[in-house]
This record gives sequence, structure tokens and C-alpha cells, in this order.
Amino acid sequence: MVGSAVVRRLASEDCEILTAPRAELDLLDQAGVRRWMSDRRPDAVVIAAAKVGGILANDRFPADFLYDNVTVQTNLIEAAFRTEVGKLLFLGSSCIYPKLAPQPIPEDALLTGPLEPTNEWYAIAKIAGLKLCQAYRRQYGVDYISAMPTNLFGPGDNFHLESSHVIPALMRKAHEAKQAGDKTLQVWGSGRPMREFLYVDDAADALVCLLKTYSDDCHVNVGSGQDITIAELARTVASVVGADAEITFDAAKPDGTPRKLLDVSRLFGMGWRPRHSLRSGLDETYAWFLRHIEGGQ
Ligand code: GDP
Repeated sequence: MVGSAVVRRLASEDCEILTAPRAELDLLDQAGVRRWMSDRRPDAVVIAAAKVGGILANDRFPADFLYDNVTVQTNLIEAAFRTEVGKLLFLGSSCIYPKLAPQPIPEDALLTGPLEPTNEWYAIAKIAGLKLCQAYRRQYGVDYISAMPTNLFGPGDNFHLESSHVIPALMRKAHEAKQAGDKTLQVWGSGRPMREFLYVDDAADALVCLLKTYSDDCHVNVGSGQDITIAELARTVASVVGADAEITFDAAKPDGTPRKLLDVSRLFGMGWRPRHSLRSGLDETYAWFLRHIEGGQ
């Protein structure tokens, strides 16, 4: 999802875009990644590839989330260094921060407390990636930077109910309830956790802004600066989909971290702002869902 959005955004820049589709390159294969990098010799690399998933997938597949992410990012960062890539942007996640970090979460809250247990495997991998970029910068003086996006959503998202994040899951459930004339929309957990969301094309715009202008040791939070409760999100998604459903809560499912709002003053201080509201991003995502997913996946 993020990689495609970065490619869409880069289309309006003066550059040649090289992609590494899954069928062409297995990012877990170190020799293959080194070969790809030395054959293509890119000027800049954006690491959007990762094994990602929602709260249940993270909890159920800890080995995959830790091993795949550490391996993919390490292969890419090391191969970029060997090939003398001038600029590298690594993408992490807002879950790198402690479960009970101050809100909104500033960049320097990193490693100040215990992580949220439901996604600590993914978080540890992403912290390792961020630190590897910092380490190469410190030891070799290369311009490797990291961005930590908040919860992203939009075209290209994963709409599988078990493995997805909350927005695609609720959108699919609301859509299916509407189709079936069902009057309930089931939400996992208590509905009380708060989450910040950013439309993926806005995230891609922020990433290209960082790629062009940012050069520093410290990672940068990428968010919208606003959060809402999961219950309110469910009502908004139901309204976007046009589902007239009563919201019910499944207390057997985990809530995860109570709140995860990023302090975006570093990014906003560079003059960047998102273009989409949550509502307009959801409208565009639902339109994409209807064109690409309905009846499939
Ligand atoms: P998180 O931000 O890492 O916790 O990832 P998620 O996007 O998976 O979950 C965010 C919040 O939405 C959690 O409190 C979930 O319990 C809640 N949630 C409510 N309904 C759903 C659902 O159907 N799928 C998912 N993935 N989360 C849901």
C-alpha cells in the first residue's frame, strides 16, 4: 500500500522510478538484494516493504513479524551501503514507542519504557531498522533517514478480516452488513482506544518531502495530528459505507495500546500538512474498495 502510494507521488517528480516487485525479487534473499542493488545502482532508496498486519496478526505470528522485518530491512540497508546509494529513507511505525508514552508522542519518547505487548515483535524490528540507519550515518557519514508513520489506510490496503488493520476491517464488515441487510457492526475490544489515522497518499507526500529536504540523525513522526476513538471511527466508517448498523463490541478481542497520537511538530514545522480529512480519505478508500475488492480477496 505505501510503496504504491510513493510510486504514485514520485510520478510528478523529475526522476526514474525503479521498483522491486515480489515476483522479481525476494527481499529475504540477501544475495538477490545485493545483486538487484548493484545492477540497478539507484540514487535513492525508500524502504516501504515490510511484513505488516493488525493487532491479531501481530500477536499470532511473532516469529514472522520479527524475522521477516529484520531480514528485509537489513538486507536492503546493507546492500544500499555497499552500492554507495546516496540517500535512503526507512519507514518504521508509531508502535515503536512505549505503550504508555506521553501523548502526543514526541520522537524522543523512543526507548523510554516497555512496548505494547500485542505488537512488540514488529516494534523491535522497526526499532532495529531505525537504529541501523542511525548507525550507518554515525559510522560512515551516509544520509540515511527514518520516518515513523502513524496508522495508515487507503487504496491497496489489506481487507482480510483476520489480518488487517482496523479501518479496512470495519469497512469490509460495514459493507457486508449493508449487503446482507444485517443491522449489527461488530467492533473488536471496548471501542475506547484512540488512534490517529493518515491517508496513504498524504503519507507518501510527506515521505517525498522528507526525502527531498530532511537530513538528520533523528527519525521523524508522520501523522495527521488528530485521533479519535475506535467507537467513533466505527460510526464514521458505517456512515461512509451507508450501513445503517448498530455497533456492538467484542470484549474477547484485545484493545492494544490505549492511545497512540504522534507529536507531528517536527514534520509540520517543515511546512507540511495532510490534504485529506479522515472522512475524505475514507470516501476515497471505499470507492477503491468497491472497484477492486468487493466480492474478491
Ligand atoms: P493497532 O493500532 O496496532 O492496535 O492495530 P489495529 O488497527 O489492528 O487495531 C486498532 C484498534 O482497533 C484496536 O483497539 C482494535 O481492537 C480495534 N478494532 C476494532 N475492530 C477491529 C477489527 O475488526 N480489526 C482490527 N484489526 N482492529 C479492530
